[in-house]
Amino acid sequence: VRSFLLVAALACAASAAAQTSDPRIALMERAAWNALANGETKTAADIFREALASDPRNAQLHVGAAAAAFADRRDDDAKNEIDRALSLDSKLTPARLLLGLVLHRRGDLLGAIRAYESLAADHAADNTTNATLDRWRREFDLQLRMQQTFGDHFVVSFEGPAEEAVAAKAIASLSRALDRICAVLNTYPTRAIPVVLYTSEQFTDITRAPSWAAGAYDGTIRVPMRGAVDEDAELDRVLAHELTHAVVHTLAASAIPTWLNEGLATALESPDLGWAHEAVARFDPVPLDVLSRSFGRFTGGQATLAYATSALAVQQMLDEAGGIAVANLIRDLGDGVDFDKAFAHRIQRSFEDFEAALHP
Ligand SMILES: [Zn+2]
Repeated sequence: VRSFLLVAALACAASAAAQTSDPRIALMERAAWNALANGETKTAADIFREALASDPRNAQLHVGAAAAAFADRRDDDAKNEIDRALSLDSKLTPARLLLGLVLHRRGDLLGAIRAYESLAADHAADNTTNATLDRWRREFDLQLRMQQTFGDHFVVSFEGPAEEAVAAKAIASLSRALDRICAVLNTYPTRAIPVVLYTSEQFTDITRAPSWAAGAYDGTIRVPMRGAVDEDAELDRVLAHELTHAVVHTLAASAIPTWLNEGLATALESPDLGWAHEAVARFDPVPLDVLSRSFGRFTGGQATLAYATSALAVQQMLDEAGGIAVANLIRDLGDGVDFDKAFAHRIQRSFEDFEAALHP
């Protein structure tokens, strides 16, 4: 939801400040922003790349390429394009807005804060930007107050001594989940995964996740310690779900369809998918295509059906083709292979055929 709003805002700023007198480039630029607003990130990236080949010193086009890369979760590419744009025009507001977001998602909270402070100092920050800056400052203050505990594959941050026992419990739970998930997908993360334990209020404030969200992953696993503290099974479930996203991120450096990512996380969070069968039996199944973008826009009931549909589809893929095939599919998609081609190759049947058989 947020990245969609951002893209719309950037497209607006970009078309107002179009930097070309070449009508062909102007048309391509508009087509690329439209594609991006429709969630067609790869198409947008292709058009920006083509336009840049003809007009490599056009800072607006570099901002577009950066926005497309950011939407596709290729943060290093996004950062390179932003650097190019700012080297051509150091005051370009959309580039500086994106810079903050990219730095924040790469874990450079202080860098992100500095980028938005410089916008505010230049009176180039609107209300949304100022609100984001305030939120990042609160996140930074909280980070300073937090303590850390280390496991073999995890760094867990938590606020007070009272949470120390929960943090230890979280590490034990994550370690068990990691062994299980990595055995299914036959891959192991090579870097320690950051995990932050929040109170419910902190979690809502910092992640702005929908109210039904039990956790979040954005390079860091973020989990609110609500009822979960008292209920080990729920803590295990939430941590295993977010951990699966972290492992997926090590397989694919760019975005994959949401149903595949959420479906895998939901299928691997607990062995019991009875609730998902019930949800899908009660309502009409949702086509997986509809579930390829963020679930953040859904209400609680829609979200349940979206997760159920996705989990059952991925469970079917795991049963038919195995975890290694699913991991290879995710790798291919991360490398930019066409979805239908990658699916047919790795799952050994066409996606159309697979989906038709899911809901006979
Ligand atoms: Zn998830």
